Amino acid sequence: MRGTSRAVPCSKAMKVAAVACRWCGAKVEPPHVPADMYVVTHCANCGVGLTVPYPTAAQLHQAYGTWYRPDSGRFVGAGDWLLAAFRGRTARWVHRTSPQGPILDVGAGSGAMLDVFHRAGRTALGLERRSSRPDVRAWTIAESGDGWAAIVMWHSLEHLPNPRRSLKEAALGLRNGGLLVVAIPNAASIQYRVFGPHWLHLDLPRHLTHLSKDQLVAALEEDGLTVLMVSHVRGGQVVFGWIHGLVGRFPGHPDLYQALRQVQARESKAPIVPAIAAAVLVSPLALLLAGLEILSRRGGTICVVARRPASGTFRNIGGEAPGLNPEKV
Ligand SMILES: [Zn+2]
Repeated sequence: MRGTSRAVPCSKAMKVAAVACRWCGAKVEPPHVPADMYVVTHCANCGVGLTVPYPTAAQLHQAYGTWYRPDSGRFVGAGDWLLAAFRGRTARWVHRTSPQGPILDVGAGSGAMLDVFHRAGRTALGLERRSSRPDVRAWTIAESGDGWAAIVMWHSLEHLPNPRRSLKEAALGLRNGGLLVVAIPNAASIQYRVFGPHWLHLDLPRHLTHLSKDQLVAALEEDGLTVLMVSHVRGGQVVFGWIHGLVGRFPGHPDLYQALRQVQARESKAPIVPAIAAAVLVSPLALLLAGLEILSRRGGTICVVARRPASGTFRNIGGEAPGLNPEKV
């Protein structure tokens, strides 16, 4: 989901010219940007945060280098197992709450969710930039066809070059009554306000857009979907977002995320012992702050579930998918 919390180097030769907002298409004049950095600017028309300068294909290719998700694993200790377990738990929840039929996993990563869907007897297809799995394609959502019982965009929307169009394609790809499950970092969260450019979930330049809960919900409703649930817990890594940020405030600015990655999976060198020690110290405070953030409904990440109307027009549908509790954590 991320690689570094700080603005990171790009080509010094690159000029920051006016760009079209990735969300609404309005013209955006980027602010002055340090010669070798990416920053977040906000569209004056829609308010969505944009990573500028827009990275080129070559720069994104470099940002997703072989270190990003090596086959040998990403995290030290039980990190990969814990991440897969969390994804598996989320997949089982998606399986239980979705109507019968095939599921599309946009941004399938290592395929942890796909494995759960298959074991549950689902037909499932994953989309990813590259993968050796036979059930994963490098397609767009539109190229994946329609009739999906559920489409999952688990921390992938912010990586897509045309996120607004992709969201529309997802809404159109659902069968009647199908669910769209979207998890994103929440740009309206308290932890983003506190940590700013050092926020864990900023992840420049891989995260190209930075959406708030309200902006995502408005777009889903504009596309004719009914929002069933907004969770400030299920999106994951809310507590870790606080731990990472607080650790970074220690002398020397330890990078906990990089320290927890295996050597071959690191974007930068990061001393392990100071980061782990600081993490232990700040964990109780992080837990408290995450709780307050969740209670104030400004969580560091959010998960939104929306449904395409069961029949007729996209509006005024009745009933709810089992297991969902609208507007509740
Ligand atoms: Zn815009």
